[in-house]
Amino acid sequence: MSGRPINPGAELHLGKLRSVPHLGSVTLRDYCGTDASISRAARVSYGRHNATRTESDDAKLIGYLMRHRHTSPFEMAELVFHVRAPIFVARQWMRHRMASINEVSLRYTEAAEECVMDVRGLGPLCADPDSKDSKQGRGEPLTVGAITAADTAQAAWGSFGFALDLQQSDLEYKHARKAGISREQARVLLPLATMTEWVWKVDLHNLLHFLGLRTKPDAQREIRLLADEIAAIVADAYPLTWAAWVEHVRDAPRISASAWRALAGIVDADRLADALAALPDRERREILAALTAAWSAGDAR
Ligand SMILES: Cc1cc2nc3c(=O)[nH]c(=O)nc-3n(C[C@H](O)[C@H](O)[C@H](O)COP(=O)(O)OP(=O)(O)OC[C@H]3O[C@@H](n4cnc5c(N)ncnc54)[C@H](O)[C@@H]3O)c2cc1C
Repeated sequence: MSGRPINPGAELHLGKLRSVPHLGSVTLRDYCGTDASISRAARVSYGRHNATRTESDDAKLIGYLMRHRHTSPFEMAELVFHVRAPIFVARQWMRHRMASINEVSLRYTEAAEECVMDVRGLGPLCADPDSKDSKQGRGEPLTVGAITAADTAQAAWGSFGFALDLQQSDLEYKHARKAGISREQARVLLPLATMTEWVWKVDLHNLLHFLGLRTKPDAQREIRLLADEIAAIVADAYPLTWAAWVEHVRDAPRISASAWRALAGIVDADRLADALAALPDRERREILAALTAAWSAGDAR
């Protein structure tokens, strides 16, 4: 093979702004590699990276790599994004250390306008109002329509006060700048809703890890909406890897050894062969081996 591998799915998205209203945007700026680059890298393991392979061979190999957490071939593909988001989203985003970042500096530039949050989405703390355990997330949006006596003041504050508070911080920042305060000091007046932007280079393995955490329902809605935009790009650019990740990681249950042994205990051995018939041979053998190990552990049967 000569020349740079072109990724048709990534090319579709290159340079196109994907905007989330009232929140921010992501744009794919550059990429490296295709699904075939990943499977070719994996085949180096057994010295056969130059052999001709079909897409279905690649799909099988990528599925195997994903299922067995043989992750380094997925690091061979890389993507570069330009992201715009409020600072509170950026703080969560940048906890993902396995990436390269360059962010706009509020020492060198004036603060951009604040992110105008969609105040209709304001909600109380608990995702489940009956649960005393929920310490994060939010419940149903507070709407002016759903008025109870206790909600009225909060809903009114949500609609007007929230936006006013943001405007007030912006005015204070501008006032400080007008008074000659340096940018690096005036910025301490800005709210977490202030927009920021950064270039983000990440390999596909770590990007999938990011998507696994940040597209889940327990991730904050604002980062989730932007992560969903990135997910749509990845699904087009690396369709075989995406399908394997959905099948073997994202939608695959992660359970403890005790839970697995308990479940294995109620599996009907006679009906097992039929139930597993649709799976690839190797996967079926692996599941049977795991079940046999659980049964022989003693507490399953
Ligand atoms: C719903 C949710 C709630 C959260 N709540 C909080 C919170 O309350 N407080 C808080 O501080 N954080 C919180 N986080 C952030 C979380 O703890 C992680 O820091 C963040 O998700 C990044 O994940 P990561 O470290 O796996 O990813 P990355 O930093 O991208 O790292 C990827 C992988 O590389 C390896 N790695 C990276 N750096 C190191 C290292 N120094 N040593 C060893 N291995 C390393 C690890 O295997 C890691 O999984 C939350 C995240 C989510 C999704």
